[in-house]
Amino acid sequence: MGILEGKTALVFGLANERSIAWGITQAMHAQGAKIGISYAGEALERRVRPLAAAVGCAFVEACDVSKDADIAVVAAKAGAAFGQIDILIHSIAFAVRDELNGPYYNTSREGFRTAMDISVYSFVALARAFQPWMRRGGAMLCMTYYGAEKVVPHYNVMGVAKSALEASTRYLAYDFGPQGVRVNAISAGPIRTLAAAGVSGFKDMYRQFAEMAPLRENITTEDVGNAAVFLCSDMAAHITGEVLYVDSGYNIMGVPEPPTKE
Ligand code: NAD
Repeated sequence: MGILEGKTALVFGLANERSIAWGITQAMHAQGAKIGISYAGEALERRVRPLAAAVGCAFVEACDVSKDADIAVVAAKAGAAFGQIDILIHSIAFAVRDELNGPYYNTSREGFRTAMDISVYSFVALARAFQPWMRRGGAMLCMTYYGAEKVVPHYNVMGVAKSALEASTRYLAYDFGPQGVRVNAISAGPIRTLAAAGVSGFKDMYRQFAEMAPLRENITTEDVGNAAVFLCSDMAAHITGEVLYVDSGYNIMGVPEPPTKE
């Protein structure tokens, strides 16, 4: 019997089979969770529907998280379809490509607003919309990255957004604590996804990551999925407001290994 047997998980942020949201969906399905999926909009439907079918998921709803009306509709539909919800996954980020290149001080007001709105505020908005449906013992989870804490060249406004997302995770954990709902974040190492392709220099960063990380390996969406299962299961019953690294240990390093002398 899976450790999520009897639980319902709603996953936001599925774009394709490379998405972290897909790794999470598969891992949760494998552990017995009933799945609901939400995706950004029409353009993705053709890719998302077959993935949903592969995990026996009938609840597949479009939702542009920059629109309060979309969020309200999907929350009402999910409430009607599932009754109570145990797990809410936020695996969404967006910044205009131009903002992920060059100096951070060139960030435009509009670019800053967009990145914060879609990558941070949407987690708060989803948490609020789903509050009436969250079952006691439930969990919410979002995806962050090391660029929230340290400078990662070109990550720019997205690093600032991830800092705000991690802070939001703590404030939401405080808000939802009395309701018995936990709120956590996973800080994932670099993975080749659609979102990552927008970060300039990502390829080199991806390669260097495996050279510097203690485990000397890149991570996969499966790794993130397994950690997400743990954090959203009863095994993590008293863990809330945390950021869990799934990064082959990269974050513990100060400097890379010195080159070996001949
Ligand atoms: P992805 O492109 O597969 O997922 C990003 C998702 O955000 C997509 O499904 C996209 O449709 C969705 N999205 C964007 N704007 C939206 C909107 N207005 N409304 C609804 N959905 C919207 O890429 P991913 O790498 O799987 O990203 C998922 C999360 O993981 C993001 O928060 C990302 O920052 C985070 N993350 C990624 C990496 C990495 O290296 N790939 C590392 C750490 C954290």
